[in-house]
Amino acid sequence: MKRISVLGSTGSIGTQTLDVARIHKDVQVAALAVHNSIELLETQTREFMPRLVCVYDKDAAEDFKLRVRDLPVTVVSGMEGLIECALLEEIDLVVSAVVGMIGIKPVIEAIRAGKDIAFANKETLVSAGHLIMPLVKEKKVNFLPVDSEHSAIFQSLVGGGEVEKLILTASGGPFRGKKQSELTHVSVADALKHPNWSMGRKITIDSATMVNKGLEVMEASWLFGIPADRIEVVIHPQSIVHSAVEFVDGAVIAQLGIPDMKLPIQYALFYPERRKMQNGRLSLTEQKNLTFEKPVLSELPGLSLAYEAIQAGGSMPVVYNAANEYAVAEFLDNKISFTAIAARIADAMRAHRVIDRPSLSEILETEAWVREYLAVHKIGGLE
Ligand code: MG
Repeated sequence: MKRISVLGSTGSIGTQTLDVARIHKDVQVAALAVHNSIELLETQTREFMPRLVCVYDKDAAEDFKLRVRDLPVTVVSGMEGLIECALLEEIDLVVSAVVGMIGIKPVIEAIRAGKDIAFANKETLVSAGHLIMPLVKEKKVNFLPVDSEHSAIFQSLVGGGEVEKLILTASGGPFRGKKQSELTHVSVADALKHPNWSMGRKITIDSATMVNKGLEVMEASWLFGIPADRIEVVIHPQSIVHSAVEFVDGAVIAQLGIPDMKLPIQYALFYPERRKMQNGRLSLTEQKNLTFEKPVLSELPGLSLAYEAIQAGGSMPVVYNAANEYAVAEFLDNKISFTAIAARIADAMRAHRVIDRPSLSEILETEAWVREYLAVHKIGGLE
């Protein structure tokens, strides 16, 4: 029996994790955690009967307690509650599928307690990779990527061998090939129309700005111990080649498949075992053409700023990520234009003094500083 805790159970990865868990009778869902989507959480709780549930929002947690008072479930809230879900004694594996830096503390605590991690929260690794990866090594836990590109690289590395570079594919999102000047007036609805993947709102906007790929370069660098200058981003609009590894002898090994997150989720849950899956199958003969292009960095500030943040190092990736989280929320609230997202990130990065190897409290302080800074400085391309 595999006992899991799902942090972020009502999000896109969370619901698909439960879809996978539903099919495999040897998976037991012991804990669920959400921000405030208590309606769907109630349905999940009644189906999976976890022992512990966290509703991060304290008021929503009180409402939720009333909804499930007929069930033998303990309801907790806040950061302590989230950490409690990550530390539950009987669980083997924590699925970290919350959105944003909020995942840092629970992931660190879970690794300290020797839990395996199925990891779908790149913002955490971007901000605290230098704290998390040494801990993964020390505690000898499995740290299994769920992000489709990183799962593809992970799968391609199974055979071993010395790596020359990682090839990270990107669909290019809904605005592929467009110039920045054409994107000033795009709507939230336009930016949420991803051509291939169905995902949560934040990551879909990140795909449209290519910030997602910037975060993924940082994520891959931490996960696989490869410097960013040996990670090549390639635009591949069909999203069939999910990423690849080039080895020192020139062999390129890739993982291909239809775009479906259930595959990397299931692979992480049962690694190293592969299980039968009732999904759609890739037919190579039905692929009219698979194309690959170099990204034009001058038209992709979301991605080029990521390279600047990597170059600056220390706390700068924290700023890149935190400013993006802030600006994407503003864009989704119709407060700023689409192109202002990158302008906001650039503005915060310019104002930041880098801290080398920031501690956890320095990371959280830096994030708080970014929020204060952007709340006051309403400049940088705002419409
Ligand atoms: Mg991805």
